[in-house]
Amino acid sequence: MLKLITRSLMLLFVFALTALMSADKSLTRVAHANEFPADPNPLLAEWVGPYGGVPPFDKVQVALFKPALESAMAENLADIDKVARQSAAPTFDNTIVPMEKAGAAFDRVSTIYNIWSSTMSTPEFQVVQREMAPKLAKFGDQITQNEPLFKRIETVYNSPDKKKLSAEQQRLVWLYYTNFVRAGAKLDVQAKARLTAINQELATLFTKFSNNVLFEEDSQFVTLKSEDELKGLPQSVRDAEAASAATKKQPGTWVIMNTRSSVEPFLTYSDRRDLREKVWRMFIMRGDNGGEQDNNATITQILQLRAERAKLLGYQTHAHWRLENAMAKNPDRAMDLMMQVWKPAVARVHEEVRDMQALADKEGAGIKIEPWDYRYYMEKVRKAKYDLDQNEVKPYLQLDKLVEAIHWVAGELFNFKLTPATNVPVAHSDIRVWEVTDKTSGKHVGLWYFDPYARAGKRSGAWMNAYRTQERVNGEITTIVSNNANFVKGKPGEPLLISWDDASTMFHEFGHALHGLNSNVTYPSLSGTAVARDYVEFPSQLMEHWLATPEVLQKFAVHYQTGKPIPQALVDKINRSRTFNQGFSTVEYLAAAILDMKLHLLGDKKIDARTFEKEALAELGMPREIVLRHRLPQFLHVFSSDGYSAGYYSYLWSDVITADAFGAFTEGGGPYDRKVADRLRKYIFSVGNTIDPADGYRNFRGRDPKVEALMKKRGFSS
Ligand SMILES: [Zn+2]
Repeated sequence: MLKLITRSLMLLFVFALTALMSADKSLTRVAHANEFPADPNPLLAEWVGPYGGVPPFDKVQVALFKPALESAMAENLADIDKVARQSAAPTFDNTIVPMEKAGAAFDRVSTIYNIWSSTMSTPEFQVVQREMAPKLAKFGDQITQNEPLFKRIETVYNSPDKKKLSAEQQRLVWLYYTNFVRAGAKLDVQAKARLTAINQELATLFTKFSNNVLFEEDSQFVTLKSEDELKGLPQSVRDAEAASAATKKQPGTWVIMNTRSSVEPFLTYSDRRDLREKVWRMFIMRGDNGGEQDNNATITQILQLRAERAKLLGYQTHAHWRLENAMAKNPDRAMDLMMQVWKPAVARVHEEVRDMQALADKEGAGIKIEPWDYRYYMEKVRKAKYDLDQNEVKPYLQLDKLVEAIHWVAGELFNFKLTPATNVPVAHSDIRVWEVTDKTSGKHVGLWYFDPYARAGKRSGAWMNAYRTQERVNGEITTIVSNNANFVKGKPGEPLLISWDDASTMFHEFGHALHGLNSNVTYPSLSGTAVARDYVEFPSQLMEHWLATPEVLQKFAVHYQTGKPIPQALVDKINRSRTFNQGFSTVEYLAAAILDMKLHLLGDKKIDARTFEKEALAELGMPREIVLRHRLPQFLHVFSSDGYSAGYYSYLWSDVITADAFGAFTEGGGPYDRKVADRLRKYIFSVGNTIDPADGYRNFRGRDPKVEALMKKRGFSS
């Protein structure tokens, strides 16, 4: 089946990998059992074990990937060819359905391959990756450029019989047709050949780009050696840094890793301004240090190739191509929304800086606020203004309790129950697995894997990934989803305490998981999170709202030593400070989103990434105290695949919908209003891509989303 936005490969929040496609399922499933009983490669085998089969993580060896991928691709292409070359007139049942069933073996292998690429990468694995990236890209093109296959799809799409199909089936036909056309199915032979060459080159460049960032995140760090260098750091941060030092074989020291989860707490608390600057520079320079790992030239190449491809496909720019099937439909609408929020956000930043400068002056610091001071003084202002100390909150936020909290919310909203499953293999001993069932019927719903900790070879950030999607074409197939985070392990035997932001991210990622787990569709291409990129962050962002509900805080935000729930006075302070610092977080994100869009509207104009970044930010009026959340040489969303390219605006677009949607709860009986939750499940969480998202939302809310709720949520005047 066609996966331009891939299903098993869609890593939500951080990055998605090269767009891959796959084919034929049921045929190969039977064939494998009967014809190739001695197939020695365990990655190709059907998943066996409990819960309808689970990924064989205990049997993975890096050397198995290449032969498994090559065999699965060949088998897949052969099956697709069977669909394409049959003599019967094209129908939904003999063309679209077999395409949906196609690619089971490829799905299985590539799922594990992508888990290794994002969480278990090694130099040995990266050699395989470099070789396979262009081959996988070519494989995708071989499917969309299969002329007889496209003719069949086109015939089904244009047939008057299409009206007799169900709404879900009609949407599936539309999706196939549109995706094939958008991938170049209508081009002539010469143009197709060029397109394939471009896609292969891009795949190689994407791999290079992300491995360069990974290399600098893994290899660079700052070592602290004395008490004086630890000044200001709370105990939990010191513990995490000591644990990092152990992994870096620097006993007796404290190590700041070059990852967000390690850098941000240091920038927030360290009294040592010189060290803050040093750590900040290390982090913002990832991929921009000259030499072998420098990504600037790669960016130019990627943009040139994307512009050429867009032109070849008949689009003005890469952005126009990417947005056509998004909710926004075109770059102008996305840009309009961003600029509407940009001005009030920048105005808020100036206020925030004024507050910080005043506080620094009052303390006699004798400094002018610089980017490496922002988080530090922001924290001080938070204390002064709201009497809220993040360190006062942290003892109430234990990782394990928050896992219980998200599970409890899943029970309240969607009637799910999560039970530990200890009988399934995992890729790493840190990973835990839960079975999800329906609370009332006890029926199996799916599996949830949780991979919480940072380690070498794992990309930073947090994301969701589906290992298997819910569907009914191959019988009742249940989903397997995973959440991935990068918490730094604390002291052994002690509960890991996390920040409010990290807790919020856990709810976010679990929101994606719930989007997958609630899926109730027939066709795998339309399942779970396989929705428009600017809609997919809506279910996840919505779930963030449940962290701050009194029910969750009373039950799960309990002190790690006393077991007492978080005091109401502290909760009130959190609530009062909710719009605090929204200037900073909106501007650091939005500037990156605007640059992403501008870059992809340039067409074939050749740019130097450093110069472009500088000039574009100046033109925007970027506050000098803030740096992009992702500077271009490390912007994995945009340059590790096509995934979020010209699509980083999606978080804002989705947040407009999110803020508006939460209003349905607050206007009703509150966050646990069962009727609203039922509507949410029926029209949003369970439908996948079976209906147009704008229609789905109208069904839920009774109208289109309005931007006002977002402005209010962020404390901006519109
Ligand atoms: Zn997300």
